[in-house]
Amino acid sequence: MGNKKYFWFVVGSQFLYGNEVLETVASRAQEMAEKMSKSLPYELRFKGIVNTWDEATQYAKEANFDDDCCGVITWCHTFSPSKMWIEAFRLLQKPLLHFATQYNRYIPDKEIDMDFMNLNQAAHGDREHGFIIARMRLQQKIVTGFWEDQPVLDEIGTWMRAAVAYDFSRNLRVMRFGDNMREVAVTEGDKVEAQIKFGWQVNTWPVGKLVEQIGKVTDEEVDELMKVYTDTYELATDDLETIRYQAREEIAMKKMMTAEGANAFVNTFQDLIGMKQLPGIASQHLMAQGYGYGAEGDWKLSALVAIVKKMTEGMTGGTSFMEDYTYHLDPKAEYALGAHMLEVCPTIAAEKPRIEVHPLGIGDREDPARLVFEGHEGNALVVTLIDMGDRFRMLVQDIHCVKPIYEMPNLPVARVMWEGKPSLNEGLKMWLMAGGAHHSVLSYDATPEMLQDLARMMDIEFVHITADSKPEEFEKDLFFADLAWKLK
Ligand code: MN
Repeated sequence: MGNKKYFWFVVGSQFLYGNEVLETVASRAQEMAEKMSKSLPYELRFKGIVNTWDEATQYAKEANFDDDCCGVITWCHTFSPSKMWIEAFRLLQKPLLHFATQYNRYIPDKEIDMDFMNLNQAAHGDREHGFIIARMRLQQKIVTGFWEDQPVLDEIGTWMRAAVAYDFSRNLRVMRFGDNMREVAVTEGDKVEAQIKFGWQVNTWPVGKLVEQIGKVTDEEVDELMKVYTDTYELATDDLETIRYQAREEIAMKKMMTAEGANAFVNTFQDLIGMKQLPGIASQHLMAQGYGYGAEGDWKLSALVAIVKKMTEGMTGGTSFMEDYTYHLDPKAEYALGAHMLEVCPTIAAEKPRIEVHPLGIGDREDPARLVFEGHEGNALVVTLIDMGDRFRMLVQDIHCVKPIYEMPNLPVARVMWEGKPSLNEGLKMWLMAGGAHHSVLSYDATPEMLQDLARMMDIEFVHITADSKPEEFEKDLFFADLAWKLK
């Protein structure tokens, strides 16, 4: 992927079997890391063998201070006594994956002897390793299986994506233009706790500063971005001045975010003093470039949009800020219609988005330009993040997006239509039980496993509504999880 982030492969052994065995272990681990890297989204670098307490401890210290190392994968080729790993694991601050594999796929019938057994005893070594990780109650991912098998590599790749997203999260800055929408509960939350838990630096900049920046954008800068808009999207209005104003807004927001190192932003229609339009295409095009966006001041969702986009970098299904708007309750075919006032990311579009200008009933500003399109068909998920007061809860629902069943010619915004799992009503019941927000991230690329891996790294609650979920069991699970999290 041309990404400079990478992972370390650290292999456990010991001196008991002599130097020849250790040389074999090292050369095989090197070979495995190189071959596996070809099928993984990020490079896996063989870092070395651990034979002693000192070596294990040193690797952990180095991993912690290597900003581009997003996680450590361990495996025990031979037996590797785990008391020598304790300090390393106590110190390690990077995500850990315990990969229980074996160099050889088959037991070699004729060749197998005690030397072979001593060299290839991952079955033994990985149990010792698993014990100490479990004994220390470490957050970890366990992957088992032969290292050349694609499903095994996919599982590691999924974890790698989550770990890169976690690394991104720890450095994420969210720029708030205005506060949360008045009186809304679910978009609120504890920003200090979010910074401790996720790393997010969530801070406010006055809308007046943004207005100042909008005023400073040059016509040449606007011309350049207008060319990008018209090259990328279909122009479906003569009102170029309105679109030019959106370009000004995008350029101004991007400059302010760049100056602060921010990768996500929020705004609210209740605080647009001095702005002519609520950002529409401006926010949509920023999202398409990977920026997080949250409407009505929803900083948790803005951060989550940016994180899921980072997690799925290089994938092509698309990820957007989303809101459940209204339902189609035909008993034979139930659908949810997702949209927003303006801000749906064009990466999820089925066709070339159209630039249109329409009035906006709220915000008391001029008619804003926005991209209008349908979301494409395909399996996807919606994920939201809520603040339960004593912890954060990540809630995921599996969905299947369909081509919208109607044209809806008078709907002036981008729209996505989907079937909720296990069904619209049952899924909704569980979403409400879990306190799920109306804002979510809709992604065709992220998988529930990726998000679960991320939640594990963040040490937050993970709740998943699947095609097999049942409200009665779900309610019980939530109840017991609530007790467990209170004790944690
Ligand atoms: Mn909203």
